[in-house]
Amino acid sequence: MSERSDANADCGNECTEALRQLGAYLDGELPGTDVEVIRRHLTACYPCTERATFEEQLRAIVRRDCSDHAPPSLMLRIESALEVYWPQR
Ligand SMILES: [Zn+2]
Repeated sequence: MSERSDANADCGNECTEALRQLGAYLDGELPGTDVEVIRRHLTACYPCTERATFEEQLRAIVRRDCSDHAPPSLMLRIESALEVYWPQR
């Protein structure tokens, strides 16, 4: 994942941090305290909620349609597609 130094100026570091941990959050790999932080942020931040919802659905689709593990190349393609659909604002 690429770092964005100038991501969402209006939301600031919380968004950057939440989006950085979103993958681990959706995979259930975050410790409980971090999960709480992200949940709280998602409740308050609509753009991040939208992004989280989309990525969650994407994961569900990938899990359903690729019964064995999605190849890393596919995940990379999806992630770069996301960069296109969610340009810096
Ligand atoms: Zn946010």
